[in-house]
Amino acid sequence: MKLRPFLAIAYTLALFFGQLPFTTIAQTKPDARDEMLRKMDAQAEHYGRLSRQIWEWAEVGYKEKQSAELLKTELRKAGFQIQENVGEMPTAFTATFGSGKPVIGIMGEYDALPGLSQEDVAEKKARVAGAPGHGCGHNLFGVASAFAAIAVKDYLTEKKLPGTIRFYGTPAEEGGGGKIYMARAGVFNDCDSVLVWHPGDNNGASLGTSLANITAKFKFYGKAAHAAAAPDKGRSALDAVMLMSHAVDLLREHVPQETRIHYVVTNGGSAPNIVPDFSEVYIYARHPSMPILDGIWSRIVKCAEAGALGTETRMEMEFVNSVYNLLPNDALTTLIDKNMRRVGGMKYTAEEKAFAEKIRQTLPLENALPLGSQEQVQPIDSGLGIGSTDVADVSWIVPTAQFSAATWVPGAPAHSWQSTACSGMSIGRKGMLIAAQTLALSAIDLMTDPKQIEAARASFNQRRAGYEYKSRVPATQKPPLNYRDKS
Ligand SMILES: [Zn+2]
Ligand SMILES: [Zn+2]
Repeated sequence: MKLRPFLAIAYTLALFFGQLPFTTIAQTKPDARDEMLRKMDAQAEHYGRLSRQIWEWAEVGYKEKQSAELLKTELRKAGFQIQENVGEMPTAFTATFGSGKPVIGIMGEYDALPGLSQEDVAEKKARVAGAPGHGCGHNLFGVASAFAAIAVKDYLTEKKLPGTIRFYGTPAEEGGGGKIYMARAGVFNDCDSVLVWHPGDNNGASLGTSLANITAKFKFYGKAAHAAAAPDKGRSALDAVMLMSHAVDLLREHVPQETRIHYVVTNGGSAPNIVPDFSEVYIYARHPSMPILDGIWSRIVKCAEAGALGTETRMEMEFVNSVYNLLPNDALTTLIDKNMRRVGGMKYTAEEKAFAEKIRQTLPLENALPLGSQEQVQPIDSGLGIGSTDVADVSWIVPTAQFSAATWVPGAPAHSWQSTACSGMSIGRKGMLIAAQTLALSAIDLMTDPKQIEAARASFNQRRAGYEYKSRVPATQKPPLNYRDKS
């Protein structure tokens, strides 16, 4: 899969000529990092099987019991110390090897998405209709990161190097905010840098950011009455939801350009002939800057108060979640880009190419990268991410950088049956190896060169510009361990 041209040529020449005419080549020891990469190539099948197992289990946020156990078992076997139940979350853990500075973290996720069950075939076909599936490729995310941490540990042991490598097992990325509660538990505080990857349809490092968000449910309590016989006796909670929603829709015109607001009515009453005494709307607001979002959010709360005032109902806000915008790190991104170029992209087999072509027939391909782009590493991307992630909260505590590996056919979006299919087959596993090798190389650079750590810290301080991170999740709020349960 990987071509390391210089070494390949050197070995071929050495084989062909023997040692005599080319003593300099014969005496050249292969670089220790290349040796590590070759070892990882040989271990890829084992880790591929683990990723397939987690893909088949497809456990949703905070229910990833078997997936977390499988990763813990691998890491424990490799000599890592496991800290369980981090932040009072049964599927959150850290796995640490070594001691002293620096402390380098590698982050993993393993939660699946509801309703995305899919076979590993190039047509939409559920394994179990309605069941969860790995549409965000977190089965690969968790395993590749654990694989990298173990490879780094092997390297440190062999070379007798100091320092600490830590794997962060972070649950419920998809809406459960696991990392916010891990951050609150303080497990990132002693860390010098955190490396993160994410499955995607291309290989590349990123300076892109993401949107901060605040999400909440607004509950309105009115008075029930017969809607025809005694409407004057009723006070409609649904009217309050509609009045609030209308006010929010008017507000849209007067918010900063990059703002996103979306909502669903989660309870609109039970029957038309009863004035609803309870109604609820679930709202997300997002903006690239948390302080600006605070201002937008306080105006949304005013819209809710107006809804209650105008309808003579009572309003309660139930806070759900909030994540920050991602703070990119220039030094770490440059380091990742360099290492990803050393690892290189992937070549499809004829079978994989046929699979990819079939998948692409099912996709809108405007603006999609062409087939073949998986063989390359893309230039560093610096766009504004349009989603939100709880990785962002970590990025305000410790220098953090994220990159993408082409685990999905070019053009396949996240959270789709196509990305679920790719995450369970060989294309996903090839992308996972690129990620694991890039992570391992970058972690070793950080562990062996203090200048890299300093540069990462300097980038962090420069981008942070003195701003103090403070999660908008109330300190009394517990992790929503049952957020995926059906009510
Ligand atoms: Zn996702
Ligand atoms: Zn994801």
